[in-house]
Amino acid sequence: MEELKEECGVFGIYDQNDNLDVSRLVFFALYALQHRGQESCGIAVSTNNEITSHKDMGLVSEVFNNQILGSLKGRIGIGHVRYSTAGASNCLNAQPIVVNYKGGMMAIAHNGNLVNAEALRRDMSDTGSIFVADADTELVIKIVSKHLVANQNHEIALEKTMQELSGSYAMVLLLPGKLVGVRDPNGIRPLCIGKLKKSYVLSSESCAFSTIGAEFVRDVLPGEIITIDEDGLHSYQTKTPDRSAMCIFEYVYFARPDSYIDGASVHQARFEAGKRLAIEHPVEADLVIGVPDSALSAALGYSQQSGIPYGHGLIRNRYIGRTFIQPTQSLRDMSVRIKFSVLQNAIEGKRIVLLDDSIVRGTTTRIIVQMLKDAGAKEVHMRISSAPVKFPCYYGIDIASASQLIASKLSVEQICQMIGADSLGYLSLLGMLQTPVGIKGGLCDACFTGKYCVQE
Ligand code: SF4
Repeated sequence: MEELKEECGVFGIYDQNDNLDVSRLVFFALYALQHRGQESCGIAVSTNNEITSHKDMGLVSEVFNNQILGSLKGRIGIGHVRYSTAGASNCLNAQPIVVNYKGGMMAIAHNGNLVNAEALRRDMSDTGSIFVADADTELVIKIVSKHLVANQNHEIALEKTMQELSGSYAMVLLLPGKLVGVRDPNGIRPLCIGKLKKSYVLSSESCAFSTIGAEFVRDVLPGEIITIDEDGLHSYQTKTPDRSAMCIFEYVYFARPDSYIDGASVHQARFEAGKRLAIEHPVEADLVIGVPDSALSAALGYSQQSGIPYGHGLIRNRYIGRTFIQPTQSLRDMSVRIKFSVLQNAIEGKRIVLLDDSIVRGTTTRIIVQMLKDAGAKEVHMRISSAPVKFPCYYGIDIASASQLIASKLSVEQICQMIGADSLGYLSLLGMLQTPVGIKGGLCDACFTGKYCVQE
């Protein structure tokens, strides 16, 4: 693990007699959400309560073609892009998951992680449940089915489902005649509502709305169940804690900069983080550059606040596709060199401020610093637009244990030495918490503090 990885992205659409090409709109929306997961993807659509679906391993562009999209006809559609943190990376765990239950067919697409998945699986196995996959989403759909059979009202059934789940979840469900969106009571993962003509759409991030020509309406609130049916949009609010806990890393790194989450612009949050970093960790230098793409907004903020010119210094290779775990250190170093290259004439002879969003193991950072020095940089001053990541994430981000994190083992000075930089400065946690300007509600900061909002 060299970078943090998001778990998934979800999307849903209900055609309100606008005559939309539902599967193609989901397909384009998944393109916009591809940064949230590149291992597998899928689309499920329904007409007359029959659901057809297609899913496979690979990128959206690899899994779908015209013929497949043409076979997915329906008025309601949901889609999913996946990066696996819970459950194996295989087609059985690809989503949407489609099932038959007593009331007909339903499908689910889920972003997040359940912290009580093991206990739920154990309890359900003890009472005879069998599972075809090992991801927690299969647990969710079985619990939904149980409550739908026992309660005619789907909102009550989903509320009861939510009472059994602990952790993070933003999900879209295709129920007979309905599209439903659910966000966990802490609002850890994002989910928002958009509108395309008269039709409503749901998405992990608002960047998918601009892709398909939809307008942003609002965020789904923590603990809210949104139902879209032929009568329009309905909201049902379940009980929530006093303070929400939206993942602050969505602003730092995961989300696309053109998205708005819980009232705050992702680009603006990163830009403000860069400005604060320049105040907290000033340095004399000639050029500010960012590690593309997620640190570019912060680099711009650092430059504006410090008055040091901003420029391009690193180029990202966009055509790598999936990368594989390399068996030796020299091959791992090579993967970083394939991913990034240096603009030598922009760097040579200059004192560089290099912005990045986080340091995980430190190996990628060390290689990038070395590449800049090899290209003739006089000095490289590393600035990180988040606080040191010291604790694992149990809410859908791929940080399995503290031992994988360099900041949990070494001091800032030791990390600076290890990456070979001339100086290193992290944004303070206080500075981070103030950056998503306009955010409604609280933020999760557990990977910096070890204080978790939901535990098993
Ligand atoms: S622990 Fe960190 S990465 Fe995980 S949800 Fe909280 S802020 Fe996000």
